[in-house]
Amino acid sequence: MTNPLEQEVARRRTFAIISHPDAGKTTLTEKLLLFGGAIQLAGQVRAKGDRRRTRSDWMSIERARGISVVTSVMTFEYDGTVFNLLDTPGHEDFSEDTYRTLTAVDAAVMVIDAAKGIEARTRKLFEICRLRDIPIITFVNKMDREARDPLDLLDEIEKGLALSVAPMVWPIGQGKDFAGTYDLNSPRVRQLEQDPAGVPVSGPDDPLIPTLVKPDTFAKWRDEIDLVKDLCTSFDRQAFLEGHLSPVYFGSALKNFGVRDLLEALIAYAPPPRDQQAAGRVVHATEPKMTGIVFKIQANMDPNHRDRIAFMRLASGKLTRGMKAKLVRTGKTVALNAPQFFFAQDRSIADEAFAGDVVGIPNHGLLRIGDTLTEGEDVVFTGVPSFAPEILRRVKLGDPMKAKKLREALQQLAEEGVVQLFIPADGSPAIVGVVGALQLDVLADRLANEYGVPASFEPARYEVMRWITCDVPKKLDEFIANNRFSIAHDLDGDPVFMAQSAFNLNYTLERAPEIRTTEIKE
Ligand code: GDP
Repeated sequence: MTNPLEQEVARRRTFAIISHPDAGKTTLTEKLLLFGGAIQLAGQVRAKGDRRRTRSDWMSIERARGISVVTSVMTFEYDGTVFNLLDTPGHEDFSEDTYRTLTAVDAAVMVIDAAKGIEARTRKLFEICRLRDIPIITFVNKMDREARDPLDLLDEIEKGLALSVAPMVWPIGQGKDFAGTYDLNSPRVRQLEQDPAGVPVSGPDDPLIPTLVKPDTFAKWRDEIDLVKDLCTSFDRQAFLEGHLSPVYFGSALKNFGVRDLLEALIAYAPPPRDQQAAGRVVHATEPKMTGIVFKIQANMDPNHRDRIAFMRLASGKLTRGMKAKLVRTGKTVALNAPQFFFAQDRSIADEAFAGDVVGIPNHGLLRIGDTLTEGEDVVFTGVPSFAPEILRRVKLGDPMKAKKLREALQQLAEEGVVQLFIPADGSPAIVGVVGALQLDVLADRLANEYGVPASFEPARYEVMRWITCDVPKKLDEFIANNRFSIAHDLDGDPVFMAQSAFNLNYTLERAPEIRTTEIKE
């Protein structure tokens, strides 16, 4: 017997779509939301995005570059399952936002353009998923266009990503001859623009099949299917859950073909909300007490309100509107009076939410990335990482009268995760750190447009930074005192060592073997 909380948790799937720009992520998202009834007309996701962008000045960079810097979440329901789809930005830059978003999902759909195969961005996002053993479902998109040989594509995924693949369906034809797919596990033929349930058949030799597809297409497919049976791995759920094997579907997001297969695969195979590692213990999703972790902050979603939304993934239990939660970092109580769910077109107040759900919590700077909210326990989750910035800059202010305003703005933007902020121990001006150059453009744009403090950037004296720790606190204090001109503190007050070059970093560290450095802070 399962209790109501366990039932709610079991019917949740929290996932992201990873892909290279142009592979079809937006189109697929629209079609997924259509199935979920979250939108009436495909095309509205983008239309909505454009409308929102024109309202918001700081997003002008995104518009100019045709990218989406902002990740968002979309909740929809299909066939009794609640899906939380977390959007990852599609631009080329390394983005901390993307990493953090992927820490909040339990599974990912990897979209591949059938003509292009694995592309750079897909690979990078895949590597992040692999770090966390996130199970991946592969969707080979654009089968209605000239595509590469499906067996070649599978080979490329298997060798290129060192990921076993198990085709779940096999395409019948491609390009203008793309007729549909054959389901390898429960033999049936699904045809383009026909009943998505498909036509059950007894196997590849069922005489019904040649009556459904053109002779040439059938002949080629019939030859392939034996090879597929011989060469391909069959699906193994355990290997999938461990992140070693990916089930592969073929389809066309544009023609809304194969999209339902994906939803059904997510329901049947993807894991419900996973247990989460916290310092000291594992938090189980079905524990009755609510815990949640803030993995993203977004400012000014609605320019009329100048609000900040903290996106929190519930790790356990049930959130009820109006409940009082403890912000573990400060010990303060936060009243969750207006937690929100996000849909394609709308947000709405969430009366209740369960482990796996992502809710937005409006606030005015109270919540930071990595914060934990609980019903009282001092749980601290590990796993929302900060990455050592690759670019360090000093902020040069156009108008010196606005120094105080700049400090406030930088503090807020750092809490939001737009930049990292480091305060040098020697009292010199703050240094901002970013992982990708695009973040600097976003920073400049937001400083000017949102805070009215136009600023530019100049090189800092440093090029490398690492967080430093030591088992013996006294030794750390000594190191900090001896290297005062190379030490700064981050937003949490944790010390970092900054060096002019990798050479200098190594030189100093070789002389202080008790000091440990890290590039990622969790
Ligand atoms: P994103 O950059 O990954 O979000 O890709 P989009 O969804 O914006 O798609 C990029 C382009 O490919 C658009 O012109 C789409 O209409 C087109 N496209 C997406 N999916 C398909 C498909 O299955 N077949 C074809 N022929 N075109 C597609």
